[in-house]
Amino acid sequence: MEYYRRVATSYNINIHLFEKVISVSSSQLTAGSHPAPKFHINTNKGAYTADNIIIATGFYDIPYLLNIPGEDLSKVTHYYKEPHLYAFQKVIVAGAMNSAVDAALETWRKGAEVTMVIREAQIGERVKYWVRPDIINRIKEGSIKALYNSTIKAIREDEVDIETPGGLITIKNDWVLAMTGYQPDLDFLSKIGIRLSDDAIRTPEINTETYETNVKNIFLAGVICGGMNTHRLFIENSREHAEKIIRTIKEGSRMNG
Ligand SMILES: Cc1cc2nc3c(=O)[nH]c(=O)nc-3n(C[C@H](O)[C@H](O)[C@H](O)COP(=O)(O)OP(=O)(O)OC[C@H]3O[C@@H](n4cnc5c(N)ncnc54)[C@H](O)[C@@H]3O)c2cc1C
Repeated sequence: MEYYRRVATSYNINIHLFEKVISVSSSQLTAGSHPAPKFHINTNKGAYTADNIIIATGFYDIPYLLNIPGEDLSKVTHYYKEPHLYAFQKVIVAGAMNSAVDAALETWRKGAEVTMVIREAQIGERVKYWVRPDIINRIKEGSIKALYNSTIKAIREDEVDIETPGGLITIKNDWVLAMTGYQPDLDFLSKIGIRLSDDAIRTPEINTETYETNVKNIFLAGVICGGMNTHRLFIENSREHAEKIIRTIKEGSRMNG
């Protein structure tokens, strides 16, 4: 984040924060010597026009829900932000992938009493290799408690029911961080006219040389290119998207005069 914040200031990038794109529509070419911009974009704060659009919406839009009683309580969150809120509190972290592990370690380091509730028999194998030993050692030494092969069944204001291999248990609890994964908003792409594959992955249709979609002048970058396969792409292997897209846009504008 430090690096990207500095990129934003160094290159004086025009960023509109906390603004959500609601719709994108193609504009009709109007009569006159200058062609009209190709797209109209509406957001929750305003309206814009553009000749090219790059969509890099990632995959954190829609959390996978626990679908259990009490999930709607204000003590439950699917988006972990910062650890100090949880100091000296009893925290349950559901999940065992990167988000869950980061939340467990950070809140524990700020004084939370952390219990991880993990459906599987171990911490996820795709957790970053430099973080995985840390969480495993914290669990081994008993600093962070882990309930493996377990699922949360119900959440109440001051306690939580958990199904464990030894039977149903109830533990005292102040906060639940439900780090159970996310899915991309692929319907957003469909509404714009971007085609998705028919299989479960729903891969958006892109030219892998240019990252242009089947809608001319709309490009995709980053994790969203993988559709539901959200772990195929990450920061390091998505950087090439930007280069290819900008080269294509530059070549297009050169050809258009
Ligand atoms: C805990 C954790 C640790 C990680 N650690 C690493 C790591 O060390 N190295 C690594 O390579 N990857 C790591 N990742 C993965 C990495 O975060 C993602 O691969 C990367 O952020 C994806 O980048 P992106 O630009 O495709 O999407 P994102 O970073 O998800 O960005 C998408 C952006 O689009 C915005 N957006 C969505 N819809 C709209 C809309 N309609 N209108 C306007 N804006 C919208 C979102 O608000 C968001 O700002 C980690 C992920 C997690 C959860």
